[in-house]
Amino acid sequence: MNLGLVTQDIVYSGSGLERAAALRRDGARLAALAGDETARLIPMWRGKNLVAIEGGPRAILLPAAALREAMAAANETSFLGLFDGAPLFASDITNLSEGRQPPALGEGTQFVNLREVGPNLASREASLLAYARGLLHWHSQHRFCPACGQPTQSEEGGHVRRCSDKSCNTLHFPRTDPAVIMLVHDGERCLLARQPRFPAGMYSTLAGFVEPGETLEEAVIREVAEEAGIPVVEVRYAGSQPWPFPASLMLGFYARATASAITLDPHELEDARWLSRTELRDSERLGIHLPRGDSIARRLVEGWLNARI
Ligand SMILES: [Zn+2]
Repeated sequence: MNLGLVTQDIVYSGSGLERAAALRRDGARLAALAGDETARLIPMWRGKNLVAIEGGPRAILLPAAALREAMAAANETSFLGLFDGAPLFASDITNLSEGRQPPALGEGTQFVNLREVGPNLASREASLLAYARGLLHWHSQHRFCPACGQPTQSEEGGHVRRCSDKSCNTLHFPRTDPAVIMLVHDGERCLLARQPRFPAGMYSTLAGFVEPGETLEEAVIREVAEEAGIPVVEVRYAGSQPWPFPASLMLGFYARATASAITLDPHELEDARWLSRTELRDSERLGIHLPRGDSIARRLVEGWLNARI
């Protein structure tokens, strides 16, 4: 079976942004870039991104020069890079609003959870908003040093946090947690499962976090054995997807099962089943909903469905 890589049109990737890491250490240059009339700002409020909804969702990139004071007063402002040559920043402005009402930032715009609109955004925009969301979430969760408990301070354009305790002085870097997600198959059928929290009827691939001291392939083998009791071989990398919900990198794999008897882990899954290609193509009639179009799980299923045999 020819199971290729799934690397095209991965939602939340492909912005084309130049991260321009060399600029992060140059504070004076970053300040000048923030005041540049071409500079843009992605605002975030309570973990939500600003979009215009009417006519299909669009990401809102505000003129940064007009918001200099707001950027300075925000919880956090980070330099994302150069987007089409123009400086791009992201600010967590949660602290600039009172109560639970977001600040008004333009008619027809609203702050939404990125997952609600991600699949319908232009892919470049979805990727930018995902980057802003992931980085600002990390800041919000690392305001205090995990080593000593003292406050941390943002440095290098928002890509490092340093402990304010001089004797500690620990540097902290943005976290991305690796998670494996795998389509298990036996050539003729693939294994899909559902967690109790899934929407009714939805089945997806198995997935789990990589643990300290194991390779990605070992994580795939372990997770499939733990969750479904199935041994797998031929673990093949298929592609990856940034998944800032809140801080994962999904690493996609195909794996071939050497036995088919399912033993569910009832703490993780409420059902798992083997589905043929014919059944998958007819899944809606069978009352089975495939994973959402913005997920690499869906791409893995489609890749297997369309594989040349
Ligand atoms: Zn510390």
